[in-house]
Amino acid sequence: MTQTTSALPPAGSPGARPLVAVEGVQKHFGDLHVLKDVDLSVAAGEVVVVLGPSGSGKSTLCRTINRLETIDEGEIRIDGEPLPTSGPGLARLRSEVGMVFQSFNLFAHKTVLENVTVAPIKVKKVPRKEAEARAMELLERVGVADQARKLPAQLSGGQQQRVAIARSLAMAPKVMLFDEPTSALDPEMINEVIEVMTGLAKDGMTMIVVTHEMGFARRTADRVVFMDAGRILEVAPPEDFFAHPRTERAQDFLAKIL
Ligand code: ADP
Ligand code: MG
Repeated sequence: MTQTTSALPPAGSPGARPLVAVEGVQKHFGDLHVLKDVDLSVAAGEVVVVLGPSGSGKSTLCRTINRLETIDEGEIRIDGEPLPTSGPGLARLRSEVGMVFQSFNLFAHKTVLENVTVAPIKVKKVPRKEAEARAMELLERVGVADQARKLPAQLSGGQQQRVAIARSLAMAPKVMLFDEPTSALDPEMINEVIEVMTGLAKDGMTMIVVTHEMGFARRTADRVVFMDAGRILEVAPPEDFFAHPRTERAQDFLAKIL
């Protein structure tokens, strides 16, 4: 991109500034070709839901975007900058790209508040008082401020996942990746996490979300990406994708889950 514009076109429109640009990405694990010429451009403020059968490469795609995995070919840019390979650039990237996993991955021996403040204090050198005040705001936003002094194990799964979201937000990321954030939760806890994600989307967060929650995909996604066997087979607004999946693979997938 050589132009710069101050007024951004609407998210998802062709001229919108891509915050995440994935171009021609190839990824192998040994002989296994897991990402096959993957292209994906996500505009600032856009919510993209990634669907596809188990093993299709959804997690690997997320992990390449925050450089938890390297790529063999192609390029990934965050806000115009190619992914760094190591050093301070990599630490900065990790703060720009938040990630929430299926398993909440909280620090078990730190309190909820410490979980949210540790990275801002250590990585961004934010003064403790300021980091704590900001953490309390974020815990309030995800509805668990009253749990701040507890250890993760004292919380429900839904509460722990909301803390994990707050912990990511504490680094003020430009984009948030969610990899099946509700898949490990008991059914009654799924909605509280989906509500937090819906709120984030409404507030304009750029999000890439791997999920089996089709209600979230229908209501909140700007676009649905359907992957199968390492390839992106379809990209469409949710109303089109769910009403008229074009490929047989997507039709089969939807027939199994709906
Ligand atoms: P999904 O998230 O869509 O279920 P994944 O991205 O986890 O798919 O996996 C894609 C393929 O890559 C699968 O065949 C999986 O077994 C394989 N895979 C994922 N991670 C690794 C790894 N670290 N080493 C070897 N194979 C892997
Ligand atoms: Mg996965």
